[in-house]
Amino acid sequence: GGEDDLAARPPVVTVMGHVDHGKTKLLDAIRKTNVVAGEAGGITQAIGAYQVSTEVDETERKITFIDTPGHEAFTAMRARGAKSTDIAVLVVAADDGVMPQTIEALNHALAADVPIVVAVNKIDREGADPTKVRGQLAEYGLVPEEYGGDTLFVDVSAVTGQGLDELLEAVVLTADAALDLRANPEMDGQGVAIEAHLDKGRGPVATVLVQRGTLHVGDSIVAGTGYGRVRALLDDHGQNVTEAPPSFPVQVLGLTAVPGAGDSFIVVDDDRMARQIAERRASRLRMAAQAAGTKRKTLDQLFDQLEKGEEQELRLILKGDGAGSVEALEDALSKIDVGDEVSLRVIDRGVGAITETNVSLAAASDAVIVGFNVRPQGKATEMADREGVDIRYYSVIYAAIDEIEAALKGLLK
Ligand code: GDP
Ligand code: MG
Repeated sequence: GGEDDLAARPPVVTVMGHVDHGKTKLLDAIRKTNVVAGEAGGITQAIGAYQVSTEVDETERKITFIDTPGHEAFTAMRARGAKSTDIAVLVVAADDGVMPQTIEALNHALAADVPIVVAVNKIDREGADPTKVRGQLAEYGLVPEEYGGDTLFVDVSAVTGQGLDELLEAVVLTADAALDLRANPEMDGQGVAIEAHLDKGRGPVATVLVQRGTLHVGDSIVAGTGYGRVRALLDDHGQNVTEAPPSFPVQVLGLTAVPGAGDSFIVVDDDRMARQIAERRASRLRMAAQAAGTKRKTLDQLFDQLEKGEEQELRLILKGDGAGSVEALEDALSKIDVGDEVSLRVIDRGVGAITETNVSLAAASDAVIVGFNVRPQGKATEMADREGVDIRYYSVIYAAIDEIEAALKGLLK
């Protein structure tokens, strides 16, 4: 098998956006109206992802949707090293317009280098202003194609079904234009677990997304620290299938333990090898847990990496107590002269406490969090310790600027 064996695979899509803008409703509407041909009415069971088909230029094209909407889940998986998503659909309610989590979602997609299609939802509502949404997002760099940019915007209604086919077409066109989605279906299956649970009757049940190769019933696999012989594969309608090709989501039965979302799975030669690899993974995890508390990427270590040329970019996430202070901080940071060799990039900013979502984005992007007159919320500190994320707290803007500047200058001397 070489390059010749590569075949096109469907794009895998995650739906993101502000709360209540219609992510769940849109996923439901797409699932109901575009079930894969021949299986209409076969919607018996929801697993963590589903596949639909749509016609584009008289060719039938498939798209896989991950059913856990939101950028939190997306970035949490990315923090574990899993690239699960090819394209992000950013949902913006046409009556509400761009909101804080719209921008947060946008930043998470950009940080992951994932192309974006915008679904301007609730177009059926009185007060819907899809032109305003286009203008708002253009200001954040998502310029609609009709304004000369390269982002596709589609007006949709998850309630009336308007625009859903056009949205699917936009996803396919964006995938064709921006991505080279091919995989070799002849290889052993590999991919990522997107959710898993322990079922009383059936034991560990994992929903996996096959990313390369094909997964078959009877394969010996390792998923996270679980392993086993695949006893059954169930598709997104709960039907038994014998194999799952690239981009196909399936439920896997037969594992010894429940993998975590974002854990990779691989097919190996036999059960014995599967057990060995799983045990090695488990012991590595135990060691990592013991080493927790030793931070992985402190600001100092990042500077160290910059100095060694291992990193060219210092990424920051800014959180402040008000829009004004965040803006002032970002403005001051942008004026630091960091020279030509390295760059300083603010990948996300926001008002309010430092959340687990912020930490998860920092972990996935090797970024440092700068908190200005804010505190951590919930389990953010705990998570930062576990993930090795450095959070710096300041109450004076110039203290923050001075520290970052001094470190960078020292480094560049
Ligand atoms: P999520 O938080 O983004 O998942 O939003 P939901 O899918 O739960 O939708 C939030 C609310 O908006 C629900 O009451 C939906 O029925 C409603 N909604 C979602 N999409 C549309 C739409 O296209 N038109 C109208 N009129 N209402 C919608
Ligand atoms: Mg929802």
